[in-house]
Amino acid sequence: MPISDPEKLRIAVEHRFGYWICRRCGARNPIGAEKCRRCGSKDLRPKRFKH
Ligand SMILES: [Zn+2]
Repeated sequence: MPISDPEKLRIAVEHRFGYWICRRCGARNPIGAEKCRRCGSKDLRPKRFKH
């Protein structure tokens, strides 16, 4: 069943590929973010889900 809801698709992508963690404030940022949405820092590191 294809996912048609953009929000659900976004969540699915985040859970598959992970997300970015800001090194400055520790906030989670969505994949594709160029800078932290909380503090504006561009010092982000990748965080992936491990199962
Ligand atoms: Zn930040």
